Amino acid sequence: MSTLQFDQSQLGYNADVVVIGAGLAGLVATRRLTAEGVNVLILEARDRSGGRMNGGTFNGESYDLGAQWVAPQATAVRTLVHELGLPLTNQYHEGESAIGLRSRTTRFSRRAPLFAPHVSLDYHRAIRLLNTIARKLDATTDTSLERAKRIDTRSFAAWLLDTCRSRTTISLLNVLTRIHFHAEPTEISLYYVIDQVSAHRGAQQLFRLTPAMCQERVIGGSARIAERLGQQLRQQLICDTPILALRQDEQSVTAYSRGTSFRAHYAIITTPPVVTQQIYFEPHLPPARDALQQRVIMGRALTVILFYDYPFWRENGKSGFVLDDAGPFSLCHDVSPVNSSEGALACAITAESAHHWGMQPRSERLTAVTQQLQRWFGNEALAYRGMIERDWNAERWNRGSNGFLVPGAATYIHNVATPVGRVHWAGSETATHWTNTLEGAVESGERAAAEVVVELGSSGLLRKKQ
Ligand SMILES: Cc1cc2nc3c(=O)[nH]c(=O)nc-3n(C[C@H](O)[C@H](O)[C@H](O)COP(=O)(O)OP(=O)(O)OC[C@H]3O[C@@H](n4cnc5c(N)ncnc54)[C@H](O)[C@@H]3O)c2cc1C
Repeated sequence: MSTLQFDQSQLGYNADVVVIGAGLAGLVATRRLTAEGVNVLILEARDRSGGRMNGGTFNGESYDLGAQWVAPQATAVRTLVHELGLPLTNQYHEGESAIGLRSRTTRFSRRAPLFAPHVSLDYHRAIRLLNTIARKLDATTDTSLERAKRIDTRSFAAWLLDTCRSRTTISLLNVLTRIHFHAEPTEISLYYVIDQVSAHRGAQQLFRLTPAMCQERVIGGSARIAERLGQQLRQQLICDTPILALRQDEQSVTAYSRGTSFRAHYAIITTPPVVTQQIYFEPHLPPARDALQQRVIMGRALTVILFYDYPFWRENGKSGFVLDDAGPFSLCHDVSPVNSSEGALACAITAESAHHWGMQPRSERLTAVTQQLQRWFGNEALAYRGMIERDWNAERWNRGSNGFLVPGAATYIHNVATPVGRVHWAGSETATHWTNTLEGAVESGERAAAEVVVELGSSGLLRKKQ
């Protein structure tokens, strides 16, 4: 080894497959491989499984600080949740909701806000245009790759400025971009937005006016998905084991943690691409893969949840749902527990605002958030009993919230799931549909497991199930 000496005498484990990362993608891949009779180990850096499905507790109740919503179209997650025997609850949305754009408020009680006709027409025109560009862009042909590269020279912000006639529409799409991508429209590639329009089956899905509504949450938090899967896979799951290096040759792969090595026929890596950059590969990854990992940068998200004696806003006829371009938070919604009388509001601080507020002292952040809540819900918002928060950018094993591409990176993304020798890739950033969601994580875990099963089968290494 040139720059890193691996200790050959360290304790070693053997398996058919090692899965790196016990987020949803890794757990699903491990479950699938185990069901196929494959001897698999799943190695997790943290002291827990779940990755970005994780939260905190207050007064004995659990709350999501990362992934929470299960969309109606998330069929794979719904099937999984059902198989695990976990109950879902509808996002509370009775009463009045509000959208604040450019210091003006639109209140609505139905599922979609009524903007001034020119804003509404402008918004729907932008959505239709994004869908049309997405349909025309089939990046598998050379001519459309050229077209993709042209589109990729622009930021989404530049496109919005050229396309939208109303400044309110631009503010609306700006705030929806911050909520969905956890990135500023100025930094995200127009090409990546178009790619995600296809991956989410339409711009109307990506830029929903009411992102919280008509969705469901796992009662007790999405971390319960990881807990249940972790129980099923307790023989295979090894926590507190960050993989620091990975070596492969023609016969095997070996993953190295502190003082321990894991040898297998194949590896599935489920870490976000930029987190994979922390692993030392021997031999070095091919330039195309390395370049990709340098370009899928992580969005920024900081979740704050405030707790109240009861959901006072409901008594005032409000749903708790607010979209706000003023900040610190872009989105606020009601996450009051189902089985208790307490109230809880979750505030999503995203993109540049997450960067800024993540650097401020906790007390100042809290003051700014509660003052924003006060503007929407009155003085009762100041009488919170407690709070929990998570800055996803401060997490070493995620380094941010969700991957996205800056302009000029389109050329690199197409090999995001292409195996490198015995190393296969999963994780929600590698999904072809519902990228950066729980659904995408499940899809990618199933896909990578299927790839490895084929490889094991064709090498005669797949044992028949008893
Ligand atoms: C704030 C926030 C809100 C979100 N909201 C939603 C939502 O409402 N609905 C939705 O569908 N999705 C949502 N998402 C996205 C969703 O959480 C992710 O897409 C999904 O959980 C990703 O799963 P994964 O397995 O691909 O990656 P991860 O969950 O990141 O799992 C990767 C795992 O690898 C581990 N790891 C990293 N490095 C190493 C190493 N060197 N060795 C060993 N292990 C390592 C990590 O600790 C982690 O456990 C949200 C995400 C965030 C951050």
